[in-house]
Amino acid sequence: MKINDKNKEYSEDKKLENNSIKKEFLDDEKGNFSIIITSLILIGFLLLSIIVLNTAINQEMENGEIVSSNNFQYIVNDYIRNLPLIEHESLEELSEEVMKNKRPCLDSKRDLKEMVDEKLSAKNQEYYDNYNIQINSSLIAIENTSNPFSYKFKAHVSCVKGDYSFERIVSSDVDCINLKDPVPLLYLKDYYGLSYNDSSYSYGNSLSEFLRENDVENYSYYINASSPLIIRKCPYDPYKHHGDDNGKVMKNCRDNGYYHESRDGACYLCRLEGKGGCEHYGFETFINPQKTNETGRVSACGSDHVIFSDDIYSGVEVIYNSENGLNEILYLDPHGHKVKYEMSGF
Ligand SMILES: [Zn+2]
Ligand SMILES: [Zn+2]
Repeated sequence: MKINDKNKEYSEDKKLENNSIKKEFLDDEKGNFSIIITSLILIGFLLLSIIVLNTAINQEMENGEIVSSNNFQYIVNDYIRNLPLIEHESLEELSEEVMKNKRPCLDSKRDLKEMVDEKLSAKNQEYYDNYNIQINSSLIAIENTSNPFSYKFKAHVSCVKGDYSFERIVSSDVDCINLKDPVPLLYLKDYYGLSYNDSSYSYGNSLSEFLRENDVENYSYYINASSPLIIRKCPYDPYKHHGDDNGKVMKNCRDNGYYHESRDGACYLCRLEGKGGCEHYGFETFINPQKTNETGRVSACGSDHVIFSDDIYSGVEVIYNSENGLNEILYLDPHGHKVKYEMSGF
């Protein structure tokens, strides 16, 4: 009995021990679980954080790229906007140079390219200093167009800044409106009497002397003649309207010194070379003889490309206005200019 009791005691002890081991074991297992779960949550959180952070960084980098790409484009666009201004400025400077020196260009397109390229190179340096952008550019062509008052300038432009680059041929329309016509000056610089003010040439005896030397009959009718200095496009288009309103349209045209499209007249760049006519589609203006009270005269046709040429032909008197017994006239060839401007009734 005692042994039994002892055994029972033993087995109860054993049971107790087992229980406590089991409990310990269970406690242990519960702790591990917590650690694993906590770790998993932590890892998950960490991964999520990394993903979120990464996305945010990427976003920021993309925005950064957009900003600097926009910035590059902005600088390039700004540069390109300068091109027609630089080209027009060069054309104007070249024409002023010709007027000042009274010396024609040998090759106006070549001279113009030289001037434009020099200005571009200064502009490129300015852009490098201000924006750290590398620009190479040069004028590659100047083309006549169907509008004789306008040229097509083509410049090759390449820009590099960091990873961004741009390369293109940029075309600009450059006109010669409001520039000075050097043809009368270049033709008559060695003749006494020629002068000009802000808007027109006064020939004095220079033109009549020139015509005399070129065996033109009635050359003296061009004593004290005048013609425009500044290139202005005639708005009375089609030109056959010049005879309208009893000649008042032609009077207005001559008072304003307008120029007209003409296949025979020189284009502006050829005028800078001292040519009255050229193979390009150009323009013409008229040389107005002094007002007169005489009628029925004949002299050199007054279109400038006829007067300033090696082949001067004659024109008949066209009276487009009369005031106080004085007639304002032009000499026009009956089948050419008289028809073109519809002055046949005058
Ligand atoms: Zn006109
Ligand atoms: Zn030309």
